[in-house]
Amino acid sequence: MLTQLINGRILTPQGWITDGSVLISNGKILEVTNSDLAVIGANVIDVKGMNIIPGFVGMHIHGGGGHDYTECSFDAFNAATKAHLLHGATTVFPTLTSTSFDNIIKVAGLCEEMMKTNKVIQGLHIEGPYLNPKMAGSQWGEFLTEPNKDEYTQIIESTSCIRRWDISPEISGGYDFGRYTSSNGILTAITHTEAEYEDIKKAFAAGFTHAAHFYNAMPGFHKRREYKYEGTVESVYLTDGMSVEVIADGIHLPATILKLVYKLKGVEQTCLVTDAVKYAAFDGEIEDSRYIIENDVCKLADHSSLAGSLATMDKLVKTMVNKAGIPLEDAVRMASETPARVIGVENTKGTLQKGKDADIVILDKDVNVRCVFSYGKIVEGTNTLIH
Ligand SMILES: [Zn+2]
Repeated sequence: MLTQLINGRILTPQGWITDGSVLISNGKILEVTNSDLAVIGANVIDVKGMNIIPGFVGMHIHGGGGHDYTECSFDAFNAATKAHLLHGATTVFPTLTSTSFDNIIKVAGLCEEMMKTNKVIQGLHIEGPYLNPKMAGSQWGEFLTEPNKDEYTQIIESTSCIRRWDISPEISGGYDFGRYTSSNGILTAITHTEAEYEDIKKAFAAGFTHAAHFYNAMPGFHKRREYKYEGTVESVYLTDGMSVEVIADGIHLPATILKLVYKLKGVEQTCLVTDAVKYAAFDGEIEDSRYIIENDVCKLADHSSLAGSLATMDKLVKTMVNKAGIPLEDAVRMASETPARVIGVENTKGTLQKGKDADIVILDKDVNVRCVFSYGKIVEGTNTLIH
């Protein structure tokens, strides 16, 4: 069956097209054309002047809809992924928080199985457990350890689903880890780190090419006694070719910093991520008394710290546009095209181009999601084009 989207502003890698159409067949984009003449036999969908943009690529998501991926069940994986899909994330890389070796093996097995039926899931992202305890906080204390070569090689050899792994590069064995993971085609990122310029140079040479939740859990410019030092932040800025991601929920980073990252790293090296916890896109009660939800973010109940974001991908784009004043097309690219390329799925995802998967979001002028297409099909519950 042929579907034709007409009467919208289409975002292509060359910019916006108006009065064109997107043709979809068999779950793929058949053509993006300059013409909006109805194609004979096509099911024509009028998007009423709204924006037709590529579906978002969620490369750092711990959970949503009341479920966390560490629950390690079919139901949890499907529910969390669906919660984000409803907000436009047509590609999701579930993130596994620092956990035990056995649990990593188990989740990798499950993820591989899931990917056969839930095509929104494109691979697994592991965060930790090889983290600098000084920067990781107490959250996962019991699991934190130095990289153990026997352990991580066994995990990586046991599965093909791992697409990304984040650790603190400066801990003992960190650079060897980066050489191994990056040479196995895994996007290797620095996280929870106090690396300074020399460490970042070594890390980049070893294959760490991305910085997780930039600015969060890493120092910036600081003083030790009377002398001043660059932090991880400045070191990453100085490393050409190292991409970054920002939690653009408007709370984890102020709009001025979002603007600065956009200005210095640019659209092509900046990804928007949710880093969402299980309470994102969830309207039930929080059962865990250690946490509270206040001002659209999850906090520790004693207000000592943020405990995770409740953002969905559409919210990030909205923040970039409305609070940081960044053009819509650039904000969308940072949520789709750039993450797709950084994590290595750009052949099928991230832009509206002939031959790619028909993962498409219809966004209205107020940056609200009005319809989501996953592999050419409208995702149930997302179509509000007629209201
Ligand atoms: Zn995370």
